[in-house]
Amino acid sequence: SSSGDGDKVYKIATDTTFAPFEFQDESGNYVGIDIDILAAIAEDQGFEYELNPLGFSAAVAALESNQADGVIAGMSITDERKLKYDFSEAYYDSGVVMAVSASNDEIKSYDDLNGKKVAVKVGTEGASFAESIAETYGFELVYFDESPFMYEDVVTGNSVACFEDYPVMGYGISKGNGLKIVTEMEKGSSYGFAVMKDKNTELLEMFNAGLENIIESGKYQEILDKYISVE
Ligand code: GLN
Repeated sequence: SSSGDGDKVYKIATDTTFAPFEFQDESGNYVGIDIDILAAIAEDQGFEYELNPLGFSAAVAALESNQADGVIAGMSITDERKLKYDFSEAYYDSGVVMAVSASNDEIKSYDDLNGKKVAVKVGTEGASFAESIAETYGFELVYFDESPFMYEDVVTGNSVACFEDYPVMGYGISKGNGLKIVTEMEKGSSYGFAVMKDKNTELLEMFNAGLENIIESGKYQEILDKYISVE
């Protein structure tokens, strides 16, 4: 069947602050590309859900401990994760960038990170990338649970750089987060909606069917346009 079980209220975990994918508006309501896509898909497919903004690693932990049925959190579809989770079709392309304080003219490449601290966010693709080059370039990692705290560590100068997804860092910079990008983007994975492997199969099927429908109807593009201004 293409419509949801009428009694079931799916628990969907998400990040807390990962604009433009999920963040709170001035009234404290959760908004963003992920939030709107999920709402549009649920409406299209007729299922109910409860949104739990937990933070990225906490959302993944909730999924693993059965406290969430699915995660939508700008979550990258990586080969390693595919061993544990089933992902929807990709709905947004991403990549990892290094950002430094807008006033920093000393850090221009990974070579300049030697002996310095670098901020990363627990459990993310950006953290994995930084971990993979930390020894080579001789920097120390400092971990944060939320993107804004990671940025703050760079702005205050404790860390000299951080690694974040390009769509999120680009958006943040355009909103004046005090950072700038100084290196080329590293290839990253596209975002998908995740469930535990072989669980909540009907939810994943509805997500994919709904995603296809909202792309076809123009609703998906409308959501992107709402959050990302085209230059
Ligand atoms: N796309 C990154 C990942 O999946 C970061 C996600 C996030 O911080 N919400 O690891």
